[in-house]
Amino acid sequence: MKTADLHTHTLYSDGTETPRRVVELAAEAGLSALAITDHDILDGCPEAAAAAAQRGLELIPGLEMSASDAGREVHVLGFFIDADCAPFQQLLADQRTRRVQRIHEMIQQLGQIGLAITPEEVFGHALGQGSVGRPHVAKALLKRGYVSTLKEAFDRYIGNGGPAYIPGSPLHPRTAIQGIREAGGIPVLAHPIYLKDDTLIDQLARDGLAGLEVYHSGHPPEAVQRYERIADRLGLLRTGGSDYHGASKEGVAIGARTIPYDLVEVLKQWKARHPSSSCA
Ligand code: AMP
Ligand code: ZN
Ligand code: FE
Ligand code: FE
Repeated sequence: MKTADLHTHTLYSDGTETPRRVVELAAEAGLSALAITDHDILDGCPEAAAAAAQRGLELIPGLEMSASDAGREVHVLGFFIDADCAPFQQLLADQRTRRVQRIHEMIQQLGQIGLAITPEEVFGHALGQGSVGRPHVAKALLKRGYVSTLKEAFDRYIGNGGPAYIPGSPLHPRTAIQGIREAGGIPVLAHPIYLKDDTLIDQLARDGLAGLEVYHSGHPPEAVQRYERIADRLGLLRTGGSDYHGASKEGVAIGARTIPYDLVEVLKQWKARHPSSSCA
């Protein structure tokens, strides 16, 4: 059976491998299709597409946008986005600028609780033109010896609600959904289990959400069944993937969660019925 992994990160955000390497790992794992979904950036997709063409694998350009609703972090995946859509690229650039600002705020907050790190130490772990995030801060803390694992950095300091936690993007998920649609993409709610509140899915469906990430490496079987039912009830497409981050997320390999390729066909059919509204 042909399979696909529609949730992976590369060096362009907080993964540790190049797009080319991620494609090679996907080919070795026997996948037919792969989506690269870096945080708030599309720039790793061309390299992945070139590598995929060489390996006979289908590359689906994608991303994972950070947003929040009433203080709750919401991640929206977007698939088959038109990277030439200027207003959408501007929205992503703004997201990344805010990420840089947030890193400075986190460094200040960490300093106040006695954990001195410099911006250079954090940005040194990120790609110059990439999307910087908390895992890069965690690496700086690890290198200084303040923590002994990346997970400990989140558990003790920078995880949601931690003493040096600074909220992520203030963008409303509705804005992310609309932006993805305007750029010809398919907006999908990522890993709904992390929301701990299924009523938000109903609201986002009213806001134009097209799909739900039913299958995810963090979803136990009973959650998968629940999200399958919710997707059916709301008429949402089903997607899924590993949320591979390389060495940034131990124990999650490429293809750790896959979906039947048939679901990729369904995504393409949806895309054909919904041409881009403003960037055609
Ligand atoms: P950011 O986009 O800067 O808010 O960082 C979010 C990323 O941090 C996620 O995509 C994960 O890669 C990572 N992350 C979040 N929570 C944890 C955790 N508890 N342990 C390890 N990594 C985490
Ligand atoms: Zn991440
Ligand atoms: Fe996420
Ligand atoms: Fe992710």
